[in-house]
Amino acid sequence: MKYQTSIETQGTDVPVWPMYINGDWVAGVDDKWGGAVCPSRAETVLARVPSSSSPDVDRAVAAARAAFPAWKAQHFTVRQQALLQIAAAVEAEAEAMAVLTAQDTGNALRTQARPEVSTLIALFRYFAGVAGEFKGSVLPAGDNQLQYTRQEPLGVVGAILPWNSPLMIAAMKIPAALVAGNTLVVKPAEDAPLTILRLAELAAPFLPAGVLNVVTGKGRVVGEAIVQHPDVDKISFTGSSDVGRHVGEVAGARLAHVSLELGGKSPSIVFPSAASADRIEATAAGVLLGMRFTRQGQSCTAGSRLFVHREVYEPFIEELSRQVSALRVGDPLEEDTDMGTIISAKQLASVQEYVEDGKRQAGVRIILDGSDFRGTGATAGGHYVGPTILADVSNDWRIAREEVFGPVLVIIPWSDVDDVVAMANDSHYGLAAFVWSYDLNEALDTAHRIESGWVQVNQGGGQVVGQSYGGYKASGLGREFSVEGAIAGFTQTKQINVKLG
Ligand code: NAD
Repeated sequence: MKYQTSIETQGTDVPVWPMYINGDWVAGVDDKWGGAVCPSRAETVLARVPSSSSPDVDRAVAAARAAFPAWKAQHFTVRQQALLQIAAAVEAEAEAMAVLTAQDTGNALRTQARPEVSTLIALFRYFAGVAGEFKGSVLPAGDNQLQYTRQEPLGVVGAILPWNSPLMIAAMKIPAALVAGNTLVVKPAEDAPLTILRLAELAAPFLPAGVLNVVTGKGRVVGEAIVQHPDVDKISFTGSSDVGRHVGEVAGARLAHVSLELGGKSPSIVFPSAASADRIEATAAGVLLGMRFTRQGQSCTAGSRLFVHREVYEPFIEELSRQVSALRVGDPLEEDTDMGTIISAKQLASVQEYVEDGKRQAGVRIILDGSDFRGTGATAGGHYVGPTILADVSNDWRIAREEVFGPVLVIIPWSDVDDVVAMANDSHYGLAAFVWSYDLNEALDTAHRIESGWVQVNQGGGQVVGQSYGGYKASGLGREFSVEGAIAGFTQTKQINVKLG
């Protein structure tokens, strides 16, 4: 089946959005289709996308393999130029892309979807800017020797994405892999595939056929086929630790390169100096941001375990609760909405189950309970949960140990810095952390003692272009976002020794 454009209707109201293989928009070989459901308007199918299978992965990998030698052989400025053109094309369509993000993921337009598109554009520009840095070195080995290294691309990269912020995660992988000279087979999450298909459509005019391919469908089918494929040289996976562990095993068994960006249960530690009368409001605002309430807590870096010093415990809870209660939960497409929807009914049920479990624990104090929040009007039936805060929690309760991936914050009191560092590190995760203190030694000493790949001091925002990003422990392997991470993750080193004269 061939398509002229990416969206066509097939005699129904629901648009059909084929996938992108070797420069063509195609159905799966089985011609099976799945629905991309809008999470803020339950049961509304935004588009039908191919539910593809392993022969489709074969096609995509073959296309990427065929395109690899020529793409790799380009001068780096050619790849740089392609990335800049893609960034400009996305920027020209930024608002429509943000609206599509809000529809596809349930993330609110103002607080999340627009910033996600901006991050995507910024990362394409960043990796274009550092294109010439994917280079080797020369050893000073005497006049009759030329001993140098080359950073060569790995080949075909399989990029597997989650649903929580697809464009941002795609932006950690696609421009970095491309600029290093690799070709790609990208698999978006089945719950949020549309922005990735749109990105491929915007990128298509600037890339040779086969350099970027997108296959859609179920993780256990099409994701698994990518990971197992003998011609995929590297898997760059972002998703849950359970699936990540499996991906690592399968890729490891065939000795493919692999990087894993996985889950988190990140600590956020408030010292008294950050909750003084003149700072408490700003610190609470930062904690709110770090908890990613405005992405419904659906963030691997959410600071979802909040440790507050006993000296400032009650006033801090009061201020945080005041600010969090003011968040407006609602239609992701409305301008004044702060928090949108949970991605799916299944995820909603999981979040509610965690909250029920937390509420059953002896001694828990419910500060805010948004688990019964319901959408109204156009959004009735959407998968909403309001912000939820449980205090007086123990670090060994399930709700303090497992990743809820919802807007659920637990608060744990502390008095001794060694105790709080031990509690922060008592987790199998180690992705992000937040330290709130205006005593420089205390802040940096704590930051250095925390076992995680990324620590922020006195701020709670998201990743910035060029920084290192990746997890310790069960939060992952490898680094993305930075040029150093991209060189380590998307190239391999070749040493060449030449006798001169
Ligand atoms: P998930 O692990 O269920 O799925 C992630 C992707 O893997 C999806 O595309 C899915 O289709 C695919 N997949 C599923 N089974 C597969 C298999 N057997 N082989 C290959 N691929 C398979 O995760 P999710 O529910 O989409 O996303 C939420 C999770 O992602 C959370 O745990 C979150 O912490 C994590 N996450 C991590 C980061 C990070 O940068 N560390 C960022 C965002 C999300």
